[in-house]
Amino acid sequence: GGDRELLLNGIRDVPDHPKAGVVFKDITPLLADPRAFSVLTDALAAAVTRVGATAVAGLEARGFIIGAPAAVRAGVGFVPVRKAGKLPGETVGESYSLEYGTAEVELQADAIGPGDRVLIIDDVLATGGTAGASVRLIRRTGAEVVGVTVLLELGFLGGRELLLEALDDVPLEAL
Ligand code: 5GP
Repeated sequence: GGDRELLLNGIRDVPDHPKAGVVFKDITPLLADPRAFSVLTDALAAAVTRVGATAVAGLEARGFIIGAPAAVRAGVGFVPVRKAGKLPGETVGESYSLEYGTAEVELQADAIGPGDRVLIIDDVLATGGTAGASVRLIRRTGAEVVGVTVLLELGFLGGRELLLEALDDVPLEAL
């Protein structure tokens, strides 16, 4: 319907970013359009409520931008999952493989724990590496991952397959 159109119109292809041969899905037009951003926030907040999440974990950096307003609208807290070395205090980390080398995501050790039901939010699911490491990271704190919701899934990269193995019946939703 109109909402889907509004979201799709806010995403543009940028060829050769961040490197040659990659077509980057740029969501900044969506963020700049208050109607589209509000539709997105409503949809994400509905996902938070649907899975009964008690917290949103947003993945750096666009998962912060879209996850935080959704958490506020759904009436739950927000927890940032960051790239290694950014968060103060005691942290827990999980590494994952990139095409060349590895990367690491971190969470503050006391941010969440047993009893928390966490929905992971990010803008784009590509290879699934970032979301997969975030699932493992959140589970290590004793918290439960109750879903992963993204705006957009790049199906040809196989991220869903990689993630579903780790998720084990936890819903993965692409808006
Ligand atoms: P993955 O770990 O699934 O390969 O990559 C997903 C992460 O990289 C997400 O945090 C996402 O923000 C970013 N990413 C990868 N490709 C794109 C893209 O085409 N557009 C946007 N906006 N983000 C991307």
